[in-house]
This record gives sequence, C-alpha cells and structure tokens, in this order.
Amino acid sequence: MKSDDEIAQRGVGRIPPPSSPAVSRVMKGNRGKDTTPELLMRAALRKAGIPGYRLHWKKAPGSPDIAYPGRRIAIFVHGCYWHSCPTCDIPIPQTNTEYWQTKFERNRARDERKKQRLEEMGWKVFVIWEHEVKEDPLACAQRVKDYIDAVSAKASR
Ligand SMILES: [Zn+2]
Repeated sequence: MKSDDEIAQRGVGRIPPPSSPAVSRVMKGNRGKDTTPELLMRAALRKAGIPGYRLHWKKAPGSPDIAYPGRRIAIFVHGCYWHSCPTCDIPIPQTNTEYWQTKFERNRARDERKKQRLEEMGWKVFVIWEHEVKEDPLACAQRVKDYIDAVSAKASR
C-alpha cells in the first residue's frame, strides 16, 4: 500500500508530455483501468459493506468503471485532469492549447452521453471525482451506500 503522500504526488498536478505512452493510452478513449482513484473507491466500497460490484461492465452503456448491475448503479471515477473537474479547474497546457481544448471537450461530451444513456435505462449514476476519493474515500462510498439503503427501505415499506 502506498502512503497518502505518494498517492498525492501522482495526482492531478503532474502532466506527462503528450508523447508518452501513458497519455496516448488515456487519450485513446480513457481506457486506463485500475487507476489509483478507482482502487481507492473500490476499497472504500468494500469497507462500507457493499462488495459485489463489477468492473468495466460491458453490458451497460459506457462500461462504467464500477457497476452493481442488479441494482442498476453505475459509478464513474473521473480523473480531475482528463475529465475537466469543475472544482479543480486545472489549466489546459500552454502548448497546443487548441488540440487539448478539443480533446477535453470531447471527453466531457462523452461522459455526459454515457450518463444520459444510463439514466434513460433507469440506472442511478454516481460521478466520483479523483480529488473527492483521495480526500475522503469512505464519504464517497457512503453516498452509494445511502442510496442503496434508501432504495431498500422504500422496497420493504
Ligand atoms: Zn477535482
């Protein structure tokens, strides 16, 4: 297990050069799996007592990072940088600004589309930002737990 400091250092502030393999992998559709924020979130969900999630479940639109298919719950764990977190508001690179602007806008539009399609199919969608899960993973998991509890309370009434 890495220390929180190490995790923080790998966080939002560092931008690898666009030519690096990591970036081209991310930019080819954000397929980066098992990222630190995702791992934190998954650990927190287990801790909160709601294991049994599926990872990158392909039968749901947009294969959500984490899904509870039976409960129709989808969780996206968004990196603050690649998904243009409104809270962190990380500046766009000074070089090739237009290129990056377009990339980020496309990411944002794709995120929105996925969310809409899931909601149209009756799914509950949680968007968890990287900075939130790094600050307080259990609070993020608790949001999901509260929803599950509310739904089952309604069902048993
Ligand atoms: Zn953020």
